Amino acid sequence: MAERKHAILPASGAARWMACTPSARLEEQFPDTGSKYAAEGTLAHAIAELKVRKKFVEPMGPKKYNTALNKLKKTPLYDEHEELRDPKDYLPEMDRYTDDYLDYVSGVVMSYKTSPHVAVELRLDLSRYAPESFGTGDCIILGGDTLHVIDFKYGKGVVVDVENNPQLMLYGLGALDAYGMLYNPTRIILTVFQPRADGDTVKEWEISRDDLVNWGVFTVRPAARQAFDGKGEFKPGGWCRFCRAKAQCRARAGANTALEDFGSPNSKTETGKLPKPPLLTDAEVGEVLQRGTDVMKWISDLQDYALSAILDGKGIPGWKAVEGRSRREFDDITTAFDTIKAAGIDEAMLYERRPMTLAAIEKELGKGKFAEIAGTHVVTPPGKPTLVQASDNRPPYNPKPTAEEDFQPNT
Ligand code: SF4
Repeated sequence: MAERKHAILPASGAARWMACTPSARLEEQFPDTGSKYAAEGTLAHAIAELKVRKKFVEPMGPKKYNTALNKLKKTPLYDEHEELRDPKDYLPEMDRYTDDYLDYVSGVVMSYKTSPHVAVELRLDLSRYAPESFGTGDCIILGGDTLHVIDFKYGKGVVVDVENNPQLMLYGLGALDAYGMLYNPTRIILTVFQPRADGDTVKEWEISRDDLVNWGVFTVRPAARQAFDGKGEFKPGGWCRFCRAKAQCRARAGANTALEDFGSPNSKTETGKLPKPPLLTDAEVGEVLQRGTDVMKWISDLQDYALSAILDGKGIPGWKAVEGRSRREFDDITTAFDTIKAAGIDEAMLYERRPMTLAAIEKELGKGKFAEIAGTHVVTPPGKPTLVQASDNRPPYNPKPTAEEDFQPNT
């Protein structure tokens, strides 16, 4: 995580600075403000590291381990609702997911007949490929002819792919630089372990040492040189959402307002061109929607930026900050309920009993225990048709015929 604060070309931002090379220098003027999610990820990484370190890197007695673990557990983000739990039955989410991570790492280590080399939270020098760049490998395992690079992703909002993932590929190059001479691995297996993601929580992808090094030399190096020098062309794309310049960037604004091709049916006819018809064609509808996916994110980024600017005392012409809607609430719910009961109101009226959602119960029990106990009762009704981009990897919607339609006579 520290790499984000200091490197101009952090491995975690490689997808962005390799595609939009001037973004690396443009970003410098914006502070890395971090977020609650980043802080939560840092804590989960620290717990995951401690567990793997104890088991495979630096055996430690229960006293030392528990002292270190308990210190981390005292961080408020560890379990925000701890006071509501029964400690006998409840293992907080972060503990469970880091246990799952330890299980995965253990599986890889145990797959070798002789103990492989294991390193955790290893600082990787990436400067051979990108100036001044470095990164942190969550877990690096070297055994036989194989180098494993395992990245623990605690976030759940953005599902991370592993195939051709430049961050992990750079970690692979850094690990090759650190260990290549000593171990000479020819196979590199990259893993994204993302326990809270929807769908696959473990994704692996293999690349040969030669292909990885060629990618580093012929693809990363030229892009990194341009990025470090602040050269190249601004290229808006999906990576803009992770760019610190995302709200004010003119190139992104240009891409998101470039709808003028669709014109107006009233526009003057240019020589030799027919006026635009009054209705959009289906092809144009597809194109507007395509462009619109980032427009919505961009507008939201602009709103966030404008609100912070106004709160910081700057003016955004035409806009101001006001107090948002608020809901009434009890100042002290226990005292308020006591007062209501003392007035003769039945306590039962103050509470409603509602079933928890499937997702909430699964979160409480953990995926494994939930599947074991209640898995046979879980069904997935067909979802409503939803519009997505053609590149989405889900199969096209295919409505199942109703029983009535099944029995329609052939026409
Ligand atoms: S917002 Fe997008 S286009 Fe602009 S600098 Fe950042 S990555 Fe490049």
